[in-house]
Amino acid sequence: MSITVECQRCTACCRWPGEVRLDAAEITAIAQHVGMSEERFIAEHTRLRVDRRGLALQERADGSCIFLADGGCAVQPVKPQQCRDFPSRWVNSLWGKVPLATMKKEYPMLFNCAAFKDFLKTNKL
Ligand code: SF4
Ligand code: SF4
Repeated sequence: MSITVECQRCTACCRWPGEVRLDAAEITAIAQHVGMSEERFIAEHTRLRVDRRGLALQERADGSCIFLADGGCAVQPVKPQQCRDFPSRWVNSLWGKVPLATMKKEYPMLFNCAAFKDFLKTNKL
């Protein structure tokens, strides 16, 4: 059974340092959305991934995503799949398979997520 945890747009995951990976289609869509050529978008808003196998979004000095704005995600309609998948994909790959204490230790970002916190409350954990 698949668990759905609805994002509450608290933006905690957008403030968490780390790579937001982009594929070619996402680069095209986001560049178009922000009105930039793909070349300029790549030069100004992306960086090489740590594994050097592709690109990720730039982050600010404080670790937050370059597209985090006052009202939330500035590219919401075209945000990357990685953002769309959080937290449900993580929950489905971990829940019932990894002890809660291990999850807390190894996936702290999940425990910062308002939607996951509600999920834990609903499940009386
Ligand atoms: S692209 Fe949008 S949803 Fe994804 S991390 Fe950046 S601000 Fe958050
Ligand atoms: S931390 Fe969770 S609730 Fe907050 S924006 Fe990210 S996915 Fe949504």
